[in-house]
Amino acid sequence: MQDCLFCRIVRGEIPAAKVYEDDELLAFKDIQPQRPVHVLVIPKKHVTSLAHATPEDIPVFGKMLVVANQIAADQGSPEGFRSIINTGRVGGQEVMHVHMHIVGGQEPVGPMLKR
Ligand code: 5GP
Ligand code: ZN
Repeated sequence: MQDCLFCRIVRGEIPAAKVYEDDELLAFKDIQPQRPVHVLVIPKKHVTSLAHATPEDIPVFGKMLVVANQIAADQGSPEGFRSIINTGRVGGQEVMHVHMHIVGGQEPVGPMLKR
């Protein structure tokens, strides 16, 4: 995925404030944080969205959930956080490489959706 923004971050072509990395995952600070803690966790392998996920993605997607709590705690959200994955047009996805937002801080992030 030559032109994918997050693939370019994985390859080091675009700088990012990395907070976690292993062989399959990368986590970095969102460039426009919505809360004091706002991290994006991505698979290093390009997957466009949850609408494009296949059974072979199960282990890496499972790991994304499992590492979230430690990343949140390390970044200053030790008492919980919200994880969000936007998918497609209706979900409001802007970057077409699967990413899980981890948002939090010291204060509650608020209602899940505006009514
Ligand atoms: P989405 O709306 O697709 O769920 O979220 C995309 C997120 O990526 C947004 O919160 C946006 O601020 C973030 N973002 C977009 N471009 C960059 C970038 O170049 N670097 C970083 N660190 N975050 C980005
Ligand atoms: Zn990509």
